[in-house]
Amino acid sequence: NTFAEIDLGEALNLNIRRCKYVKPTPVQRYAIPISLAGRDLMACAQTGSGKTAAFCFPIISGIMKGALPQRPFRGARTVYPRALILSPTRELSVQIHEEARKFSYQTGVKVVVAYGGAPINQQLRELERGVDILVATPGRLVDLLERARVSLQMIRYLALDEADRMLDMGFEPQIRKIVEQMDMPPPGVRQTMLFSATFPKEIQRLASDFLSNYIFLAV
Ligand code: AMP
Repeated sequence: NTFAEIDLGEALNLNIRRCKYVKPTPVQRYAIPISLAGRDLMACAQTGSGKTAAFCFPIISGIMKGALPQRPFRGARTVYPRALILSPTRELSVQIHEEARKFSYQTGVKVVVAYGGAPINQQLRELERGVDILVATPGRLVDLLERARVSLQMIRYLALDEADRMLDMGFEPQIRKIVEQMDMPPPGVRQTMLFSATFPKEIQRLASDFLSNYIFLAV
């Protein structure tokens, strides 16, 4: 019933205490154990439900406990993040990035954000310094993939935040293009979490296309 009881790794548990999170919110209470158990997840969750931590904690914990991610050599142009968090807007991406950075403080896990509507050069420089978790809007990520500056072949965790909003904004083709690149051989063990406030047919279709044997969570 408290975060102290969930073993997310020492450094992450400490950061959670620093953030003054004591009790998991309902979506965290169910989503975190499901993700830690390695299952795919489709969760109906509103803004303010604590969904950011619900997908960040298992990702950070998993990367911390897994083999240390390989960082590119200085000057290497293509980076291979281990986790991708897709979000519809610049504002939401920045917000997720800020939270994820607080949670990953002194864990060795590096979080980088990339969004459209801003010059790409600063983001490229940031990526070149290494990235474990990439937070991105779909359009900007497609741009980075086309420039071969990011590869998704090492993605172990994929989180889609506010999936219904991404579809409303017309991002379905970009999202499909992005996910297709993760399915290129050799097939990795990808764990996917889909968060959406609503669950219309289009989202159900995404869930059945992108998730495998998933657990549906409505809180
Ligand atoms: P979110 O729904 O992820 O945007 O989170 C909404 C707000 O609740 C954010 O300001 C979080 O920092 C905060 N929050 C999330 N989980 C918890 C928690 N378990 N305890 C206290 N605050 C939280």
